[in-house]
Amino acid sequence: MQNAMASVLEEVATRMGDNYPYFHPLYAGQMLKPPHPVARAAYMLAMAINPNNHARDGGRASSEMEIEAVAEIARMFGWGERGFLGHLTSSGTFANLEALWVAGQLAPGKRIVAQENAHYTHSRISAVLHLPFSKIAADRQGHMDLNALENELRRGDVGTVVVTMGTTALGTVDPLPEILALRDRYGFRVHLDAAYGGYFRLIAENLSPSVRAAYEAMGHADSIVVDPHKHGLQPYGCGCVLFRDPAVGLLYKHDSPYTYFTSNELHLGEISLECSRAGAAAVALWATQRLLQLVPDGEFARGLTDGRKAALELDRRLREDGRFDPFPIPPELDIVVWRVQSGSAEVSSKHAQGIFDEAAKLNLHLALVQLPGAMFNGTVSPAASELAGSHVTCLRSVLMKPEHREWLEEIWQRLDAAAHRILDSTGV
Ligand SMILES: *Cc1c(COP(=O)(O)O)cnc(C)c1O
Repeated sequence: MQNAMASVLEEVATRMGDNYPYFHPLYAGQMLKPPHPVARAAYMLAMAINPNNHARDGGRASSEMEIEAVAEIARMFGWGERGFLGHLTSSGTFANLEALWVAGQLAPGKRIVAQENAHYTHSRISAVLHLPFSKIAADRQGHMDLNALENELRRGDVGTVVVTMGTTALGTVDPLPEILALRDRYGFRVHLDAAYGGYFRLIAENLSPSVRAAYEAMGHADSIVVDPHKHGLQPYGCGCVLFRDPAVGLLYKHDSPYTYFTSNELHLGEISLECSRAGAAAVALWATQRLLQLVPDGEFARGLTDGRKAALELDRRLREDGRFDPFPIPPELDIVVWRVQSGSAEVSSKHAQGIFDEAAKLNLHLALVQLPGAMFNGTVSPAASELAGSHVTCLRSVLMKPEHREWLEEIWQRLDAAAHRILDSTGV
């Protein structure tokens, strides 16, 4: 048996070799960040017991630890003094599903709206929940367009506005203070999708003034989703949903005869749509927050600042370089997006793909994103107006590891070399 296991694990190790080096600073493509060693160790310790955080019977210690860890996340947004409701989920998708499910219960039949650059999960979730959904136009900087939003609000059937605190593709932050002012006039729920960007609350002071104002207003929202498995150094399987009003817990009411025997206290299964969930995920999060506290002057916050500095430095170099056409505004968080200069969307896209491939051969892993050419109108490239009406493939880099800051010079050298190989050979 032992030999058989060893040989299967050998096979697993070989199969897992077929991956990009996600942990490495030269992996600067998609939104991937390795879990902290303390999270991995705590997860494995808890796995020896394999607790289930559906109910206290199945996960006594780990349910307690989940409640404590979630309270610390809520405190980061200024919630806790007068109560809130929240728990972990298996993902940001499921956390958003719960938030929109609650929104739909409180305003049956009313519309959910989100901007064009919001995560595509919101339209799909709305379809699952049979809630009407509409997209709000975005401005050229990738923010929700407030005039477009107000036009929809005037129709009187908007129940919930999904505000994205850090869009997945662009890292842009919606104008929350202005949206909250509209809430005062029109009345709707405000749900913050901060799956990727939530933790930047800790370094709001290092963000641009308008973005900082959005982060400082987060506590006024009705619900917030943040993914510890994105920026929070956790293994996958760790999202989080928070509600400002604990009374929404009543909506989850059910009467399963099977699960709850031992405690009169709140069971996480009573306030969650998911039933079985990994207690180990809660233990890993608890341990990580114990080591790296969610405070503005702590090591965790410094790690966010380092990634952001790397993004600003890459953006600065792209703007000075002459071969590229950066996004209309500097990075609002730690995502950088740029296109290759050319009056033709087709040529620009082909060159972006070429640089992406060449960079990968040099072990620098970037990402690609399709954007409307109109986004680049009026930026540095004189011919960019010809792009209007088309889509252009752009290069994208998520610089979310603290190490990206020290590695930025190396990243730039390889990007420069890849760009030379593509642009010099085609004579552009
Ligand atoms: C990643 C992401 C999601 C989806 O979360 P998963 O954890 O991947 O299910 C939703 N919204 C935003 C803004 C995201 O970045």
